Formats: sequence, C-alpha cells, structure tokens
Amino acid sequence: MYRRRFIEAGLTASGLGLVGTASARDDYRPGGPWAPNERAVNYDGYLDNEQLGERLRGIAERSDRIELDQIGESAGRGNPIWEVTVGDGDESVHVINQIHGDEPTGAEAMVEILRRLATGSAPEVEAILDALTITIVPRANPDGANFVGDDGLGTDGEFRQRRYNTTEWDAGDSRYINANSYAYNLDVPGYDLNRGFSIIPGFTPGDEPAAWWDVEDEEAGLGYLNVPVDEIPLESEDGRPYEEIWSAGLNLNPETRAVTDSFLEADPDWALTHHHQGPTAVPDSADGHSDRDWQSIMSVMAPYGPTYAGLDGVDYAPWVGQGNPFMSVDAQTRSLQLGGLVPERTDRFGGRLDTITRYAYGPLWGSYLDALCPQTDAAGALYEVSHQSDDRGHKARGTMVKVSVEAFMATFERIADGSVHEVDERAYFDMPIAEDIDDPHDGSDRGRGTRLR
Ligand SMILES: [Zn+2]
Repeated sequence: MYRRRFIEAGLTASGLGLVGTASARDDYRPGGPWAPNERAVNYDGYLDNEQLGERLRGIAERSDRIELDQIGESAGRGNPIWEVTVGDGDESVHVINQIHGDEPTGAEAMVEILRRLATGSAPEVEAILDALTITIVPRANPDGANFVGDDGLGTDGEFRQRRYNTTEWDAGDSRYINANSYAYNLDVPGYDLNRGFSIIPGFTPGDEPAAWWDVEDEEAGLGYLNVPVDEIPLESEDGRPYEEIWSAGLNLNPETRAVTDSFLEADPDWALTHHHQGPTAVPDSADGHSDRDWQSIMSVMAPYGPTYAGLDGVDYAPWVGQGNPFMSVDAQTRSLQLGGLVPERTDRFGGRLDTITRYAYGPLWGSYLDALCPQTDAAGALYEVSHQSDDRGHKARGTMVKVSVEAFMATFERIADGSVHEVDERAYFDMPIAEDIDDPHDGSDRGRGTRLR
C-alpha cells in the first residue's frame, strides 16, 4: 500500500510520465516464483553505499585500467557519488545507474562489468578498452539507495530503498517547487532526480522568467517549468513540433549537478541509463505449453525525434507528440540502433532471458537522456529490468543482474567494433511494447503506475 502513497505524493499523472493506455492484465505467466511480498523484500541482498564504495576501491586498486573519483556527495547522507572511468579509446560512452534508489540492479551489474574490464583478457575486453572511454556513475542516488525513514515500514536505522532522494525544498532553491519532480508529502520529502536535469546548459534556478512557470498551486508554491523552444540554446535540426517544452528540470540537486558535470566532461557520443520497470508482459508470447503470455524481463527504450514520425509501425507515447527534436538525426538513428542490440544478444540465451520488450517513448524533459543527450549529440538507450527491489527482493537478483550485464556488454562490444552502425534501426519498432500486468502482491491498481523510467 505504501507505494500508492508514493504515487500520490504530489505528482500528477502527466508528471509521472505514465505511458500506454492498456488496462492491466492478469492472464500472464509469472516468470518466476512470486514469494509473498514480505519475504521477497530483503535489502541485504544488495550492496549498501559503504559496500559499493569498498567494491569499487578494491577493483580500482587491483587494476591500472580503472580510475575511481568522487564527483559529489548526496544531499541527505553526504555519501559519495562515485565516477569510474575505464578504457582510453576515442569514442566516449557515459553510463548512469540507480538514479532511482529502489532500482539497484544497474549498480550491481556495473560491479561485475568493471571486474571484467579491470582484469579480463578476452578479445572483446581488449577491443572495448582500445576503442572506448567509458565513464560510469554506478549509483546516482545514494540517499534513495540507503533510505532510512519513519514511515512504519521498518525500524529507524534499517537499510532499505526508495525512488526519491532526500532534498527538502527550501524557499530560495527555486521560484516554484518543481511539481513534476518533488514529492512533498512523504515522511521525508525528496526529488525524483530523473525529472530534475536541465536541458538548458548552465541553467540557474530563479534566473528564468516567471512567465515560464505554469503554476499549479500558488499557495503551495507548486508549478511546472515550461520553456519556449526559442529560449533553448540547442540546435533543432529535426524540425519544430512544439512551441515550448513542458515540465523541464531545474538541476538544483547535488546529484543531478554531479551527473551533469560528469556528462559534459566526458562529452559522450553514447549515453546509457539503467532502471527497473513495473511488472509487464510480452504480448502474444503464449506458446504451446501455456495460453498465457510471458513476463517481460527487460524493456529497452531509444529516444528519437520527428524524423521517424509517421513511418509504418512507429509510435510515440500518446501524450508526447513527436519526441525529442533537439537530437540530431544521426543521434536518433544511433539510438534506435542501440535499442536493437539487447534482443539480438538475449536471443542467444532463449527462455526467460529472451523476453525483451520495448518501452513506448515520449520525452521527459527533465530526464538524463532527454535533457543531456542533445548537449553533446549523444545517442541514448535506457534498459529497464522487471520489478522494483521491494517487489522481488533477492530472489530475482541474479537473473536481473545477468540480463543487465549482457545488455551493457553487448552494447560496449558493438560500439567498440563498429557493428552497431550495421543494425537496421527500424528493427527497433518490431519489438513488442510491454503490457502492464497486475501485481499479485497488491489488490489495488498499483501496477498501472509502476512503468516509470
Ligand atoms: Zn527508474
């Protein structure tokens, strides 16, 4: 039930970035045993902030291929935000994980990937190190990853996880509270950091004209920042489908600032981000053994713009129009090519690992991919494994880490050897769009609100 409180925490439906209109369904075939929820939750299965730091230091100490830096600290706990750089090639890849604290698998997968890249001697590893410089922020939201609250879900001081950071808004932070990002009525308020990046380079909250704000609640000081396209100092080489962009981010949290600085410093050609999705099914995947569809193990998403609008089989989330026009046509094409790499890789494994779906795309202007990719002409990809940490706990951890490691390694290998450019970008649209399914742990309609990147 507590998740419903999070969803209602001052965020509107459009603010959540809900996609799809299909009703939740309950005729799927669960992809693994669903333990009762209380038993599925076991945060001890994941690395806490201190353990993650220890692992990263250990890897860096054993290998001169790895550079480890602290690029900031979290707003509440003051825990380190780490950046790891590996490889010395000409192409730059930037990666962030766990910007939502209850989506830990990307950080766990990175530890495994870094171990391989630090000490491996396989030809693929050598090729990656020669061709790429990979900059990784393994855990962008340490406060959400190690959240301690008094919401009745655990004893104070107990390690658990939540989506938001723990920055409390203060008058002077911004002209209005970013209603798309800030969850104010939690036991500990905080920001959804993946709604908080600014598409305007060097943006300082408060410098924007008051007229950009669409004030939702004057008394509460809540509003949405809608920025005229003319005021955004980026090329729009792919047409102009909008006069303004909606629900932009303000870049006022230390976590988004650290990630933004890391991104601009890396000047990436490619940007990857890892999340978790809610429970979803692969439509029409029923086979001879059952008339029920499989659960999706991972959804991928590519950002793209107006160039692909109107082509056969191309769709956007219904509320967004025509994607991100600030991405160059070349970056859009490369994004779609990236999106095709994961299903190609998991084809090798079959079974449960071969249930890759697509996330219907629409720009979230305060998100890492939509706000930052246009600033360096980076192509982007989002990988989302199934279920938040509190839905599945440690039982599914190994499978989720494996599919994440394979997704990232396939991506690095194919960028390194150049073969990503040979992928037919239109094949991306052949992937089925995941369908929301009912969560067996929750009698409410909660499942419909969990497809949140
Ligand atoms: Zn997420």
